[in-house]
Amino acid sequence: MHIAMIGAGYVGLVSGACFSDFGHQVVCIDSNAEKVASLNNGEMPIHEPGLAELVARNVGQGRLSFSSDLKSAVSGAEVVFIAVGTPSRRGDGHADLSYVYAAAREIAGVLPDQAVVVTKSTVPVGTGDEVERIIREENPDAKVAIVSNPEFLREGAAIRDFKHPDRIVIGTDDARARSVMAEVYRPLHLNASPILYTDRRTAELTKYAANSFLATKIAFINEIADLAEKVGANVQEVARGIGLDNRIGQKFLHAGPGFGGSCFPKDAMALIKTGQDNEAPVRIVETVVAVNDQRKRAMARKVANAFGGNIRGKSIAVLGVTFKPDTDDMRDAPSIPLITALQDMGAEVRVFDPVGMEQAKKVFENVTFCDSAYRCAKGCHALVIVTEWEQFRALDLKELSTIMACPVIVDLRNIYSPEEVARNGFLYCGVGRPKSVAY
Ligand code: NAD
Repeated sequence: MHIAMIGAGYVGLVSGACFSDFGHQVVCIDSNAEKVASLNNGEMPIHEPGLAELVARNVGQGRLSFSSDLKSAVSGAEVVFIAVGTPSRRGDGHADLSYVYAAAREIAGVLPDQAVVVTKSTVPVGTGDEVERIIREENPDAKVAIVSNPEFLREGAAIRDFKHPDRIVIGTDDARARSVMAEVYRPLHLNASPILYTDRRTAELTKYAANSFLATKIAFINEIADLAEKVGANVQEVARGIGLDNRIGQKFLHAGPGFGGSCFPKDAMALIKTGQDNEAPVRIVETVVAVNDQRKRAMARKVANAFGGNIRGKSIAVLGVTFKPDTDDMRDAPSIPLITALQDMGAEVRVFDPVGMEQAKKVFENVTFCDSAYRCAKGCHALVIVTEWEQFRALDLKELSTIMACPVIVDLRNIYSPEEVARNGFLYCGVGRPKSVAY
């Protein structure tokens, strides 16, 4: 099939490359000419494991290309995906749909008669109706169908997730569009990934419900972690004790500094807005967002509490600033409010991240950027692990104890055993475990 993918970001680029790997003919279009130029030079605009090889293979075999020329790419496509950003709108927290509607306007006049237009971007209920209205306004007689096909991949594991999804959700009442989409996803369906056909509004809501539910699990276990600290229990064992129950499941039950990233915060907020607009408030998610917002700064208090509440003049090493490992994405990363709060308390902050440094330099001011974990820790009063990159799991504690000014480790991802760290002469603060310093 001939596919045009509008938006070559985390989702569009991965989806486009994977579709081409299935044998489809794919053009990824991006309005950012620099991004297109670097993709055409074989340079990846994002860090995603396996992506460069996947792209190179499919470009080399002539199934994948990159362009800024939307008109010619779309006019030759049977299926046009819209995978542009839907960030939070400044000021009110609704999803900003301006990129989606702009893309719809741009394609309206050049779509082939039988094209299927698919919103892969995460969009609020009713967005597909508006995309359809925009396209029909320009092109009233076209037999175009508009489908919702939300994406559930996770950054850092995006290719595996795309190729082995738990499910594929396709929202449309149009029988022809369903069969076109079945053809697009045929290789995955043969791989036994279930396809769930729904109406368009149901598909749109499903994506927000999924992300908000996962965010709720994280916020829940974080509050249980706080309680565990106060009552002398171990949140990791509680999480295992509840997670082994199949009705609950073990995933997304890791206590930490609060959820962040390019999806959960904005999607939870957009669901809240949809609920309020429709007089069906989703109060649980409203609370989840409030609890999570407070948590980020509370993590800075946890660091301060290791020093009796005062970190003025102290030098703090932060390891890991991206919102999760294996990505360079800094959008809404928990490290941002944490570092701001540490600076507000008078601390001097040093930072190291294995791949996020370039992005971090665009975000943080007045921090010292270091090129290794050990150079970051040198002379510091506390080491704070914020993102659980693999390379932070086996730090040489003996070496750290000799180079740091003060032996304090604040492990916001619980990747160390408190006993092991303590044996090496450190004060250890984890999250929701015995010997954790409560905030
Ligand atoms: P992104 O910001 O990385 O990429 C969006 C791309 O679209 C950018 O490269 C931008 O230049 C391009 N663009 C914007 N308007 C355009 C236009 N009119 N024509 C051509 N290109 C245009 O965003 P992302 O992280 O890939 O997210 C895209 C959507 O997918 C969002 O709705 C997001 O919520 C959703 N989503 C993201 C993830 C994730 O992990 N990042 C996972 C699932 C769903």
